Amino acid sequence: MKRSIVIAIDGTSASGKSTNAKLVAKAFDFVYADTGAMYRTLAWHCLQKKVDVHDPKAVAALCRRWKTSLECVGGSIRLLVDGYFPEREIRTAETSAAVPHVAAVPQVRDWMKKKQRECVRFGNLVMEGRDIGSNVFPDTEFKFYLDASLDERSRRRAAEGVQENLAARDQRDSQRATAPLMIPLGAIVINNSRMTAAETSGTIIEEIKKRLPETR
Ligand code: C5P
Repeated sequence: MKRSIVIAIDGTSASGKSTNAKLVAKAFDFVYADTGAMYRTLAWHCLQKKVDVHDPKAVAALCRRWKTSLECVGGSIRLLVDGYFPEREIRTAETSAAVPHVAAVPQVRDWMKKKQRECVRFGNLVMEGRDIGSNVFPDTEFKFYLDASLDERSRRRAAEGVQENLAARDQRDSQRATAPLMIPLGAIVINNSRMTAAETSGTIIEEIKKRLPETR
């Protein structure tokens, strides 16, 4: 069987991963997967079930038994819990504050890695996250790392109506012991502080075309 191609897009919070990953997926007609949404879904589920996100054992226990499924709708992969995709709920300030705690639990990261690897069953993938190129698909030859200045990233979030301490979340994500946020080995780093989404995704698309001769 032909192996699926995986394009890994990692980076800091509000560095434009989602926007650009979607544009790249569209350009190649690949499926898009947002792994941040998967971690957010578990964080939301903890809040729903009144599980303390600061208690790694309790979080790991919930992650062992939650009932999930993957589906692909309109080219985007979603993780459902009890048959439900909490699309809006996972974007609240409360969920955003809870998610880095949940994401630091090693058993959670193992579970997510397996689930995220399962996504290749939907076809060629553009997957965005924090550890895709370093941990989930370290063998892919398509790795990108996005970043932008803290001012610019905070401005982007504020424009979406979200006030959040991005620096605190990035610090937690970078300092956790298991699969921290880092520039994956071999990744192309793009600082897009002064770039539009069209320019950022255009740079990524050109790089992919250089390595994927059949798409030229
Ligand atoms: O990308 P997004 O901001 O939705 O990610 C939410 C959080 O999920 C991150 O701050 C991080 O704690 C966690 N995450 C992660 N590994 C990934 C994707 C997200 O730890 N691959």
